[in-house]
Amino acid sequence: MTSTGGLIERAALVDKEILRSSQRDHPPFGDYLAVPPDQVRRVHRTGGTTGEAMNLALSAVDAEQTAIVGARAQSASGLRPGDVVAHCLNYQMWMGGFTDHTTLEATGATVVPFGVGNPQLLLRTIRELGITAISCTPSYPAVLEQVAQEMGIDPGTLGLRLGLFGGEAALDVPGFRDRIEATWGFAARNSNYGVTDVMCNFAGQCEHQMDLHFVALDVLHPEIVDPETGEALAWEAGTSGELVLTHLSRECQPLVRFRTGDVVTLTALDPCACGRTAPRLRVSGRADDMVVVRGVKVFPSSVAALVTGDTSTSGEYRIVLEGPGPYDRLPLEVELAAGLEASGHEAAVIADRIGRIAQRDLRVTATITLVDHGTLPRTEGKTRRVVRR
Ligand SMILES: [Zn+2]
Repeated sequence: MTSTGGLIERAALVDKEILRSSQRDHPPFGDYLAVPPDQVRRVHRTGGTTGEAMNLALSAVDAEQTAIVGARAQSASGLRPGDVVAHCLNYQMWMGGFTDHTTLEATGATVVPFGVGNPQLLLRTIRELGITAISCTPSYPAVLEQVAQEMGIDPGTLGLRLGLFGGEAALDVPGFRDRIEATWGFAARNSNYGVTDVMCNFAGQCEHQMDLHFVALDVLHPEIVDPETGEALAWEAGTSGELVLTHLSRECQPLVRFRTGDVVTLTALDPCACGRTAPRLRVSGRADDMVVVRGVKVFPSSVAALVTGDTSTSGEYRIVLEGPGPYDRLPLEVELAAGLEASGHEAAVIADRIGRIAQRDLRVTATITLVDHGTLPRTEGKTRRVVRR
């Protein structure tokens, strides 16, 4: 953006590791807590299960601004006064629980703090309270669908008109959105894109298109930088790179030029059909997961799209990189659907087909290694798709 006259761009970039080490040395909030500790009104913790927990502090003003900005994203996705929304994310310390709840309330909708678990009770509550919208992870409707079937309930008859999702890229996998919309009769939207260390939700899809409206220009200064060099890139439609954010208004833990680790493409700056002038962007994936093959950036999300689109595969895959690169080819392990064998003529035909689709859709030459059904590791939660050796 040009409004800062290049001043912000002169500051050093800050990354998660700097914050982590600051919290290690100055527990619990790090040396960047900019208010006296008694001004902290809310504390969230993240990442405690996978490594050191990060402590996130909000003052009363921070909490209010967070609710207002998140509400813009949820409203863009169609939530409005008169809706009754069940919020089905984990309330235990995580921002997606209580703080996301406040964003839903700030839209003017009625919010039911359901949390996670007990799907039978949720289905009954949806009926009894006339709930019209659900806020949950993209994978949750499949769980609920199963339970509904067991209870003899057709999900499409429950009266939900809106499914609000975030947190996972599943919604962008071709076919996934159509399928849950058809099953539930609701419109499925990504209403909730945020970066925990900065703000829990500052972008959402509107009812007119699939990109995310960045709805926080008054409180966050966004930049896009080259993920490899850190160089600031032009803020114009078509620019791709790592999203960097600076708080323009924050009392606790304000950040300047924080590297979010997310690679985004700025898709449009002109007004949208919905009337919003907020810039639009698309999230490609994590900078850590980006693989550069002969100058072409490849993300697991685009590999997922091509693998899941081929019925000869189980949908599981890995990108296995030997050495630090640069890479001439994309080394791709693809798991076959049950009943198919990873050797012989049929396998050769499948590998050739996937390779040609990779060439067409990803614009890279891929080395396809087919593996038998059930051999690639499955993990609960986020599966590691890029393996570096
Ligand atoms: Zn729009």
